[in-house]
Amino acid sequence: MIHAFRAELLSVPHDPRDAPDAVRHELDGLLVVEDGIVVARGAYGDLAERYAQVPTRSLPGLVVPGFVDGHVHYPQTDKIASHGEQLLDWLDRHIFPAEKAFADKAHADLVAAFFLDELLRNGTTSALVYPTVHEPSVDALFEAAMLRNMRVISGKVLMDLGPEGLNDTVAGGRAATEALIRRWRGRGRLGYAVTPRFALASSDAQLADAGALVAEYPEVLMHTHLAENLRECEAVAERFPASIDYLDAYDRFGLVTPRSVFAHGIHLDDRSCARLHESGAGIAVCPTSNLFLGSGFFDLALNDRHRVTLGLGTDVGAGTSFSMLHTAGLAYQAALMRGERLDPFRALYLATAGSAALLHIGDKVGALEPGMEADFVVLDAKATPLLERRTRSAELAERLFALQILGDDRVVSETYIMGQRAWRRSSSAPA
Ligand SMILES: [Zn+2]
Repeated sequence: MIHAFRAELLSVPHDPRDAPDAVRHELDGLLVVEDGIVVARGAYGDLAERYAQVPTRSLPGLVVPGFVDGHVHYPQTDKIASHGEQLLDWLDRHIFPAEKAFADKAHADLVAAFFLDELLRNGTTSALVYPTVHEPSVDALFEAAMLRNMRVISGKVLMDLGPEGLNDTVAGGRAATEALIRRWRGRGRLGYAVTPRFALASSDAQLADAGALVAEYPEVLMHTHLAENLRECEAVAERFPASIDYLDAYDRFGLVTPRSVFAHGIHLDDRSCARLHESGAGIAVCPTSNLFLGSGFFDLALNDRHRVTLGLGTDVGAGTSFSMLHTAGLAYQAALMRGERLDPFRALYLATAGSAALLHIGDKVGALEPGMEADFVVLDAKATPLLERRTRSAELAERLFALQILGDDRVVSETYIMGQRAWRRSSSAPA
């Protein structure tokens, strides 16, 4: 089936840091989709004649690629906005008790469905997701993602040093990981990530086994946390005295690879960033979480100096919003705290093609180029009276920045998955 959408189109397929002319914008554009794949995209005037016979729908608003959340925890959905702690205490007090409930598949099913619908409402069509230590928590998420045809990457959390009820063993963790990889390989738009929770939650033997799994399965990602919080960094230094730094603790177990995605990376130095670049590993930057847990501000300039691969993540439930637009706005503010200005087009890149590249799905989603899957979002800059007023005569960069600073789920009027509308904002006006 072939159909087309006429709209204002915007995407940033490459990092403006490395490709300053990366922005692709058609004020009056045409996006032609066949069987879920973009077959043509350009100015309406250039394409209209060629596709005159194709049914065409006009979309009011700014069409951008579906957002790609580079790091998020679905079992923490119900613990978003939990008061009062930094990372390690927050985990003990709020998160670990909630995650225990995911041993129950029926509970996991309910939360997974709510979580994925929430992503769609926020315009997020792809994500790299933490489940829990429990094997059924992965099945629940993958089943719900298949139903919605979403591009979701996840993998059972490995944490043999976790608290009672949330710990596995080296052998048990491997067996469940391999069973899940076999069970879900090649299905829908899913991908697998070997997921040690973080350095402190696994024994040396389990970290080494995770490294072995990554080496044995070349199609999987490696997903974990890195250098988020100072107390955590101190505990890692104490636990791994032979390691040069936090990243090196992972490196010694074969966990720093081109397929490695590290969340946060707040407390890194030149050596770590150089090693990240050299290895091809990258960072999912999570500014709302870093602010919420008082972890610190990501050093964009340091990472840019070393040309580290970067994407953007919400990190809910430490993150405070599922909106990648809002997250982009916070990334701007966090960068400014370090004296850096994040350009709104680069912020859009990080939330779309950047995260897609980080997740090794950059050839499939994130840029709305011909040959890619037609996941996209319609943004409505008139969604609130303030936004409408602020953007009334704004040029593109100003409008995009206002959407990032003032926008959230309210500005997402429609979300499309492979050319099919998967979510639409209720148009019912208040009485
Ligand atoms: Zn996280």
